[in-house]
Amino acid sequence: MAVKPDIEIAREASKRPIQEIGAKLDIGPDHLLPYGHDKAKVDQRFISGLSDRPNGRLILVTAINPTPAGEGKTTTTVGLGDGLSRIGKKAAICIREASLGPNFGMKGGAAGGGHAQIVPMEEMNLHFTGDFHAITSAHNLLAAMIDNHIYWGNEQEIDLRRVVWRRVLDMNDRALRDTVTSLGGVSNGFPRETGFDITVASEVMAILCLAEDLADLERRLGDMIVAYRRDHSPVFARDIGADGAMTVLLKDAMMPNLVQTLEHTPAFVHGGPFANIAHGCNSVIATKTALKLADYVVTEAGFGADLGAEKFFDIKCRKAGLSPDCVVLVATVRALKMNGGVGKDDLGAENVEAVTRGCANLGRHIHNLKGFGVPVVVAINHFTGDTEAEIAAVQDYVAGQGAEAHLCTHWAKGSAGTEALATRVAEIADGGAAQFAPLYPDEMPLWQKIETVAERIYHAHEATADTRIREQLHQWEAQGYGHLPVCMAKTQYSFSTDPNLRGAPEGHVVPVREVRLSAGAGFVVAICGEIMTMPGLPRHPAAEKIRLNAAGDIEGLF
Ligand code: ADP
Ligand code: MG
Repeated sequence: MAVKPDIEIAREASKRPIQEIGAKLDIGPDHLLPYGHDKAKVDQRFISGLSDRPNGRLILVTAINPTPAGEGKTTTTVGLGDGLSRIGKKAAICIREASLGPNFGMKGGAAGGGHAQIVPMEEMNLHFTGDFHAITSAHNLLAAMIDNHIYWGNEQEIDLRRVVWRRVLDMNDRALRDTVTSLGGVSNGFPRETGFDITVASEVMAILCLAEDLADLERRLGDMIVAYRRDHSPVFARDIGADGAMTVLLKDAMMPNLVQTLEHTPAFVHGGPFANIAHGCNSVIATKTALKLADYVVTEAGFGADLGAEKFFDIKCRKAGLSPDCVVLVATVRALKMNGGVGKDDLGAENVEAVTRGCANLGRHIHNLKGFGVPVVVAINHFTGDTEAEIAAVQDYVAGQGAEAHLCTHWAKGSAGTEALATRVAEIADGGAAQFAPLYPDEMPLWQKIETVAERIYHAHEATADTRIREQLHQWEAQGYGHLPVCMAKTQYSFSTDPNLRGAPEGHVVPVREVRLSAGAGFVVAICGEIMTMPGLPRHPAAEKIRLNAAGDIEGLF
């Protein structure tokens, strides 16, 4: 069956008014702040009033190590949410908002695909409800206030060479990675080297996604380290007096956005932190709100399970007190083939042997996820080119691992393609078998936390770092940051730090090149490899093909 481009399917959707979607979750019209007819924010006061209600079941969708195309985590999150609705469950979906950078670059959309999409997909992928604008503004207000503080006498004695707060914008623009500001004379301040990151890499984004409420947001914003003095003592955003005004700018952005799927399942789309230098999940406030309003909440974590699920468990669930009931591990025959050593250009040809070899990657993820005490179900996201023999090979392998794999055809067929998965996921989540526990305790020293992730999740022989890095970690422990979880930043394509090392490598070394403290968000970032916080555009960016047609519709957005 031929499936139309994502944007055509989305445009033909018969959307229901957003009040009807809210009613499915018993959100009265008074508690919805509509943005047009098909989007709304959920009122903060209404959310505050939900705390005494019981929670629904929490289901995480994650994936094996992906190929460059993305393996369909969002598509499967949406498909499973619709599948649960189809079998009569009260379900909601929680995913991240989209960044403009990848949309005009090359990644593809963030609203799912085929017949498993969130709508309005154009708006969700473009300006949506303005949250990213608010985050960009709050971040840059602080940047302006730091330079202004220095200009008017630098009472905090900030060392001009040690201002760590950069500026952000929501665009891929390599020209702004490294810049010099305050050129042009005395009245423009003191020239210094700095640069821009993409908005999704801002610590403000990570904070918005981890904060419990506005008071917690303001406290965390104040806790951010923006610079150091000559004696290396930190200067906080609070010292610059920016935390109050930043909170004001973020007040509406803190309210979760409600939209719908093609099949009218309620979907919260809120927040979107990077999955490398941040934790890569939608907001805690959206997830917690959804859990109060729905019986089943399906959510997604960025990248493969070695990064995304580990951070979902060890950062988001640990900090927010969430306890997942079931994990759905998405695998595709294509990605398994690549993990089995097949090159990108040869993925079209049947190759059962390579699929079977690549299953080592799937097996390790199953084993790792079970280690967190949460039951695992494999979803095979069906691509039209997959053969029966290849699919059977995956199902046999998974059965041999003591797990189950369901073939899912939601991309082509919508919820009809996830009925079996939804039925089993609901049974397993209701079964209460999950005994979630994070990988390491808060009290473990920071370096040991990094080692634990490297050895237990990546199956590395060891993690290495020079003494400068280890001393830095000790210093943070002495300053009271030792209880924080670690946020690993490494390639998503491999369990190792080498993107070309596929399958299930053993005995590799994880070199930690740099560590950063996100004191407001509440984690220590361990950077293993090259991490880009301001992406560039490819030679032919997607933007070249995006335009309005004669009817005024957007063309070329996936
Ligand atoms: P992820 O969340 O893992 O990054 P997405 O769900 O966003 O992946 O999907 C990435 C792209 O792959 C989307 O453009 C989507 O339309 C496409 N895609 C997903 N599943 C399928 C499928 N079964 N067949 C064809 N294309 C698919
Ligand atoms: Mg996704």
